Amino acid sequence: MPEFDAILFDFDGVLVDSEPVHWACWAEVLAPAGLTLDWEFYRDCCIGIDDREMLRTIGTRAQPPRHWEELWALYPAKKELFRARMTGEPPFAPSVDTLLGRLAGQYKLAVVSSSSCAEIEPILVAGGVRHYFGTLVGAESVERGRHKPAPDPYLLAAQRLDAKTPLVVEDSAAGLASGRAAGFAVLEIERPAEMAELVSRRIHARC
Ligand SMILES: [Mg+2]
Repeated sequence: MPEFDAILFDFDGVLVDSEPVHWACWAEVLAPAGLTLDWEFYRDCCIGIDDREMLRTIGTRAQPPRHWEELWALYPAKKELFRARMTGEPPFAPSVDTLLGRLAGQYKLAVVSSSSCAEIEPILVAGGVRHYFGTLVGAESVERGRHKPAPDPYLLAAQRLDAKTPLVVEDSAAGLASGRAAGFAVLEIERPAEMAELVSRRIHARC
């Protein structure tokens, strides 16, 4: 019997190397507001958390401090910029499509992201991989304040798929903590380019 009955993928930094694009889009829309967002700060403090939480952190650090709701008004512009860039060219590595095609026959699959479904679904559709996933859990799928690192997003995905022993595939500290808090096995991905190989190795580890 297989060790896992489902595989729950984080989106950014796992299925697609999108964090540099998220960063560039945020940096671009924040600049006219007088805020600089450098990659090192984004990488260390912003990846894996809800956008509102991220803006709270950025607003607190700003000189003078800014209220996150003022910065949240920039979200539609960032979202549109990100959509245009990510759907403009195929964002998924060929190895990801091959992996998902192979897994889809054996496992239930989901995407569990701190980005909104409205943001990630068009990218999955544009990349031709949306049909592999039984459900998408995004920022709007759980109550505010219950995002990663809380277990709720992964618990919700497992519930929707009726999965008891899923494998969580994650790259960020918040996402790894979320998967562990849900009580699920977790596979850490450091570079999206290695994801397909690491997942294949992990699910065949018992063979
Ligand atoms: Mg991620």
